[in-house]
This record gives sequence, structure tokens and C-alpha cells, in this order.
Amino acid sequence: MEESRRDWNVYKQIFSDHWDSFKEKHSRYAKQYYDYLVQKMLECGNPEQMGYIEYRCMSCGQGKRLVSMSCKSFLCLRCGKVYVDNWVSQVSKMLRAGVIYRHIVLTVPARLRKVFYNHPEELLDSLFRCGVRCLDDFFSFVSRRDLKGGYIVVLQTHGRSGRYNVHLHIIATSGGLDQRTGRWVHLGYLPYHVLHKKWQKYLLDMIREELDTEEAEKLVDYCYKKYPKGFVANVQKGDVPTRYATLAKYLAKYVVTPPISVRRIDAYDGQQVTYHYRSHRTKKVEEETVDVYTFIGRMIQHTLPKGFKRIRYYGVQATKTFEKLKGTIKEALSRVKEVVKDAIKIIPRKSYRERYEEGTGKDPLICPNCGKEMEIWKIWHPQYGVIYDELKEMKRGKYEPQEVFIKRRDGRAIRSPSDGIQIPLFSVRNGAPC
Ligand SMILES: [Zn+2]
Ligand SMILES: [Zn+2]
Repeated sequence: MEESRRDWNVYKQIFSDHWDSFKEKHSRYAKQYYDYLVQKMLECGNPEQMGYIEYRCMSCGQGKRLVSMSCKSFLCLRCGKVYVDNWVSQVSKMLRAGVIYRHIVLTVPARLRKVFYNHPEELLDSLFRCGVRCLDDFFSFVSRRDLKGGYIVVLQTHGRSGRYNVHLHIIATSGGLDQRTGRWVHLGYLPYHVLHKKWQKYLLDMIREELDTEEAEKLVDYCYKKYPKGFVANVQKGDVPTRYATLAKYLAKYVVTPPISVRRIDAYDGQQVTYHYRSHRTKKVEEETVDVYTFIGRMIQHTLPKGFKRIRYYGVQATKTFEKLKGTIKEALSRVKEVVKDAIKIIPRKSYRERYEEGTGKDPLICPNCGKEMEIWKIWHPQYGVIYDELKEMKRGKYEPQEVFIKRRDGRAIRSPSDGIQIPLFSVRNGAPC
């Protein structure tokens, strides 16, 4: 924890030292939106700027804890863990019991990455749809039927080192709904070489259509010549866990580890940054030293256009569609051996309290003085001020000694002692900010 706090401070230092001059060099980022993201990230964890929840011990009056609101930004090292947890929780909810999934990665070859970097607005949205259409076509081709599958699609823009490397992670159903018969068709075998060619065609057609320039034409032609076997489209096999909760966690490792594959910042001298990360390619920890502008660039380039959704659901994965079809799908899949029945486990979002406990082994909301559980005392927001203030309530007389009738088990009402009673203050004890 100490180490990560130190890294976090260095990380913030780099941005506060160089963000303004970085924008002068890279005008594409000289926008209010990016300033806002950076500012949020710099303020993250600072209760006075971000707002906070204050807990106090109502038993002895001594214990107190301020919990700062978090920025939840993709750019933020501090919130990276929160981001991953929320993602796992969201995706595990979307994985359906009794359905078989495959994890398919559709890559963009190095030569094309710059085009995506330069045209995020035109190309990133289309990339999602293009991946989905490609897989529907692929499944239909393999089964010789008109199939529509279900897909959870996640856009990833970085490789491990933090360099720009756009690709799609798709959790695809193992088959699809036959559009003619309304039956579910499971595909046990997929010929990858066919997928490679299809993906190449879908991706290049999309680029040609969206950009519609002579330059794009040339690039597309070049890519057909350079990659005669198509583009890399991996179907991850073997180690894909069958239990859904584990599956979501396993995916998080690939997909949402923040851009921010920075594990550790080893050195920063004001001009250069040395950091290390675990490389997918070599499976080793690699070290890299870059100048501050490259470093900031590697982080900021993964923030997506405003309002952009990184995870999307298609086909039978869409909630309403699935509800209608689940009988058909389950019935068909019940005949397939590998199905893990009802293995779905929904992971609830972790609260601040649980994360803190995981990291330190201590419950942050236990009064250090008397060992009782602390309660919410005050919630403060930088824009709205005090949202909830227990002290004010007390002054208004909410907790003045008063007569309260408590119903006993035998049904008779008893009168509470008039010299003050303990009333639970707030029921959202776990009401954690992030
Ligand atoms: Zn944050
Ligand atoms: Zn106490």
C-alpha cells in the first residue's frame, strides 16, 4: 500500500508538472473535456475537493473517519482497481446461466492503428458493429444457416506497455439463433483461418466506407497485399474458466487492466519516467524509460471520446431479447456436454469498506477507540455542500429524549426509558462512495 501511494503521488506530479505544456505540443488534447479528466484525477482522494462521507462512532464519540469520493476515471491509477471491480460485476451480470461462451479477440494490425488513433469519432463506434457483423457472418458461414449470436463487446485501446493498440474482446455465444427456424444452433468447432479472412474483409470495408479518401483506399489495398492470410482473430481456448464469475475476472485481466498497465513507476527526474509492466508477449516484467510527454501521451490516449461506452451488448445478449429466447437456448444447450448448469454467480459491487478490508485486513468502519461500528455522520459534496448532516438533525431535536413505544414479542407495547434512547442513525452503513 505504501508503495502504491508513492507511485500515485509521482504519477500525479508528472501530470501537474507537464499537463499544460503537453497540451501545447498536442493540440488534440487542448479541450475542456481532457482538462476536466486530468483535474478530476489530480483531485481524486482529496476529501476537500472531491467530497466525502464522514463516519463517527456513536457509542463513545471518539472514533472518526473521512472517506473521500473517488473520480472513477480511466486515467486514474487510484481508481483503476475500482474500475476493474465494477466491470467484473457488470459483466458477470450479463453472462447467462446455461449458455456457453467463447472469448474471441479481433485485432487491428499495426499498420492500421494510427488511422484509428486519428479518427476515433468515425471509426471506434463502427468497429463495434463491424466485429459483431463479422461474427454473425462467420457463424452463419460455418453452420450454413442464417445465425445471429449474442455478444458482449469490449473495446480495448492499449497493449500492456501502454502503447496504442486498438482491438476488440468479444464474449460470444457458442452459436446463434437460426433466423429461419427459430432454433438455437451450437457450434462446437470453428475454423480460425476462415475467421481471419472474414475479419480482414469486414475491417477493411468498414475503414474504406467510413473514411472514403484516396489515402484510405491505398491503405486498404496495402493491407490485403501485406496480410494475405487475413488479420489475427484469436479464439482463446483451454484456460477459459467455465464458471461465470471466474470468467468475468479472467476477462478483466485482459480487458480492463487500466492503461495504466503501469505497475510501478521506478523513477521520475522531472523529464524522464521509468516504469515497468508485465508483457503479454514475453511474459516477463519489462522496464521502459520515456520522456514525460510520451508517458502522459500513453496514458491520455486511452481515454475515449466523451460519453463513449466501452462495453456494449449485441444480439441475444441484449436483456429483452434474451428473456424471450432463454427457453429455446437452454433447451438446445442442455444437449451439449460442456454446459455448466446454473453456474452463474453475480458478484456484487464491492464497497469501499470491503476493498479497504481486503487491502489491509482491517475494517475501516470499526471505532479504533471502543471497537463498535461507526455510523455516517455527514456527507459533503463540493458542489452541493452538506447533503446529510446528523449534527443538525440532533440540534433540531430529532434525537432528544422522547417517548417511544416498542412492540414486544408478546404483542404488548412497552414504553422506552425517558432518559434517551439509541436510535440507529442511518441504514446505509455500507454506503460507500466509489
Ligand atoms: Zn480516481
Ligand atoms: Zn467508539
